[in-house]
Amino acid sequence: MTLLDFPTREAGTPLHEQKNRVGFISLGCPKALVDSERILTQLRAEGYTVADSYESADTVIVNTCGFITPAVEESLSAIGEALDATGKVIVTGCLGERPEKILERHPKVAAITGSEAVDDVMRHVRELLPMEQHPYTDLLPTAAPGTRSGAAVPEREATRHGDVFAPSVKLTPRHFAYLKIAEGCNHTCSFCIIPKLRGQQVSRDAAAVLYEAFRLVAGGTKELVVISQDTSAYGVDIRYRESEFQETQVRAHLTDLAAKLGEMGAWVRMHYVYPYPHVEKVVELMAQGKILPYLDVPLQHASPRVLRAMRRPGAGKQLDTIRRWREICPDITIRSTFIVGFPGETEAEFQELLTFLEEARLDRVGAFPYSDVEEADANVLADPVPEDVKQERLARFMEVAQRISAEKLAEKVGRVMPIIIDEFNDDEGDLPGTRLIGRTKGDAPGIDGQVYLYAGEFAGQVKIGDIVEARIEESDEYDLFGEVVARPAWKPNVPQLGHFSHH
Ligand code: SF4
Repeated sequence: MTLLDFPTREAGTPLHEQKNRVGFISLGCPKALVDSERILTQLRAEGYTVADSYESADTVIVNTCGFITPAVEESLSAIGEALDATGKVIVTGCLGERPEKILERHPKVAAITGSEAVDDVMRHVRELLPMEQHPYTDLLPTAAPGTRSGAAVPEREATRHGDVFAPSVKLTPRHFAYLKIAEGCNHTCSFCIIPKLRGQQVSRDAAAVLYEAFRLVAGGTKELVVISQDTSAYGVDIRYRESEFQETQVRAHLTDLAAKLGEMGAWVRMHYVYPYPHVEKVVELMAQGKILPYLDVPLQHASPRVLRAMRRPGAGKQLDTIRRWREICPDITIRSTFIVGFPGETEAEFQELLTFLEEARLDRVGAFPYSDVEEADANVLADPVPEDVKQERLARFMEVAQRISAEKLAEKVGRVMPIIIDEFNDDEGDLPGTRLIGRTKGDAPGIDGQVYLYAGEFAGQVKIGDIVEARIEESDEYDLFGEVVARPAWKPNVPQLGHFSHH
């Protein structure tokens, strides 16, 4: 476990005189990452230094994940490691919703908060490491009661301007950012405890999301990755309430939000979209080139009986829905995840899943063998599938998925397509910037494939975050290989800010 390496901020008092160094461990999903960004933003705003090693940390915050048993274990061992090293640990995040679990193993933690608890985390940090007030160097007054994130503006007012939820410290590289549009979930999938951990869905106003996106794109972000537990259900809890963004009323509805985000000129990528009817309208925006032709649709299974046992939302005519989406937007990349070996899954039902995979020809597929999650309703279902059968089904599933992925990628060979550059792939002997790694519009950061490129005549000119045009020359099961052929200028529809040293 390593601490986040983060640029430090000079505080008014020399470091050795003031205890203000906070280490941070961020575990879990992109949603948890956004929470980490919010906490780090607030720490920095209040003058704390983010330590990059245990030795230099006065206390450590561990943002935990409680989703599946291995994640709980990882979180508990991270807490243990941080406690051994510093003796002062604040636990936050999903596992924090189950304090008894943490205390059982680590009775000496200084404080525990749940997820989305920036204020509580900051309160504990201030108690453990009280800061002297520096009227000339402090960026923000300390938290006023009834406000979020310690910002001294009434919450409603701040929400209107999109600054409350919006983290200004980013843990992702500058060129892409996660945009969280809602928290919590109204479903009751039998294998999942997120609704128990994070509660019912709470959507952000469209204006808050749009102002955050606007600021990100103005600061150089080229790809906005929209996340929530159930993106299709965005706005349901606030009855699609309207809010004002740049003198226009915008509904908190996925279609309207996607259209507005698309106008900013950045890549807009949608995750965790369930196949509800209105998603067709979002796919139309993809066909029109307004947002990326990419949908991450967690389907989990194809057998109607298993889906019912899973209590999945939007289950039903999955194949028809996918065909319809492809008619509207032939270029769409569909990503999905599945669970194999769900309790009671028969060989015939598993076969049904494989047949579905062959017919749907999804572009990107991930699969997990079912594992019990403490407190999940599925734990008590009859006929658990033996571990070796689960593993065997997973291997058969992945074989089919890999073949389809390889075939689909082979169709891309010979095409010229835009690629967003994530990193240099320097090797000894190459001039810096000769080899690059990026992604197509069909690849989400961190989970999908990559494109390995030679910069060719553009060697040394391409920067991280550039969107280049590249000719695809080869492919394998997951990745593409090619060469840069053009480096068009980046022209978003949002005025660009000058230089940002960091967010
Ligand atoms: S939709 Fe189902 S799996 Fe997803 S967060 Fe909600 S309950 Fe969990």
